[in-house]
Amino acid sequence: MTNLLRIASVLFALLIITSCEQDLSKKADKIHAQIVSIDTHTDTPLNFLEPDFDIGKWNNYDSSYSRIDFPRMKAGKLDAVFMAVFVGQGERSEEGNLKANNRALEIFEALHSKINQYPEQAEIALKAKDVYQIKSKGKSTVYIGVENAYPIGNDLNNIKSFYDLGARYITLCHTSNNDICDSSTDKKGPEFNGLSTFGEEVVKEMNQLGMIIDVSHISDSAYYDVLKLSKAPIIASHSSVRAICDNPRNFDDKMLYALKENGGVIQICILSDYIKEPAPYPERDSAFQQLRIKWNNWQGLSEEEYKQASHEWRALQKKYPRELATVADAVDHIDYVVKTIGIDYVGIGTDFDGGGGLKDCKDASEMKNITIELLKRGYNQEDIKRIWGENFLRVFREVEQIASR
Ligand SMILES: [Zn+2]
Repeated sequence: MTNLLRIASVLFALLIITSCEQDLSKKADKIHAQIVSIDTHTDTPLNFLEPDFDIGKWNNYDSSYSRIDFPRMKAGKLDAVFMAVFVGQGERSEEGNLKANNRALEIFEALHSKINQYPEQAEIALKAKDVYQIKSKGKSTVYIGVENAYPIGNDLNNIKSFYDLGARYITLCHTSNNDICDSSTDKKGPEFNGLSTFGEEVVKEMNQLGMIIDVSHISDSAYYDVLKLSKAPIIASHSSVRAICDNPRNFDDKMLYALKENGGVIQICILSDYIKEPAPYPERDSAFQQLRIKWNNWQGLSEEEYKQASHEWRALQKKYPRELATVADAVDHIDYVVKTIGIDYVGIGTDFDGGGGLKDCKDASEMKNITIELLKRGYNQEDIKRIWGENFLRVFREVEQIASR
């Protein structure tokens, strides 16, 4: 073969690959026009503290480190997000509980006021069915979740208050144990061996109100306690699979089988460390360890302290960049759930703006890459519709129905 022929054949091969990619991208666009896509966990309200962040404008990831705004959701074909009212675990005392409750109320207020600034771009939704209607108006949907039940303190009435402010799920705990249950990652180990007595009341109250129970972050034994007690199916708003990435935050096979029995859904979390075990990087690990110690593992921080800690965290990310997991790695988790318990129990919860993000899905504008990877693996439109939203919406509707009985 002459050199010219060789170059021509390479160019031809490249042309075929590019046109295949374009075909898949077009196919993904067509599918997204006919389904609803929901990301069930983001910590975007944390960005409302940043003076330069504007949810109604395109924020560049490289300069802002933010991963969600309405223009980028549109570009990535993402119709709906759950934004979390997140309060890190602090002191479990009357004073600590009050502080956490006030903080949660502040975030609720900021969330409503920021979203309501852009009535032409987005709406806050309260019911499972709202997302279809809001999409038909060409707008983005925002649902509200509460990450960490700590701000309800020891008062069940606060669950109703949060419900009335628009929250539709509560993640029972965060990285440490609280008064409700044990966490999967508390270094002190279990305190209740599952749910506390108060936690049992919380589960019953959530069922009664129609508040979805989110089991992400909780310990394995707390998970089984919840399944035993809950009348409604549950969600893991952002959790992945232990068989692929052995992390206590992820689900093992036994938990997956129990999930199927419950009729719930696991929303695969695309935080790199939960998708693929990171390669050893001791300098980075020790720098981040120092940072965690300095900022008390993100617990009990004031707004100002949280801002400062976040800036330092970002600086370290820049200083010690790490190879992130890819969309293909994340879809391995989806495949695993589908193979193990079927197509009806899996979805996506990115944890964007709370640590989530992949090499080729760094922000909302790149969400469609997940659909393209699903197409490459042979998933059809009906499958993709379930993964992107219908599985989660089925649980949401059941929770609503059980509450109205
Ligand atoms: Zn989380």
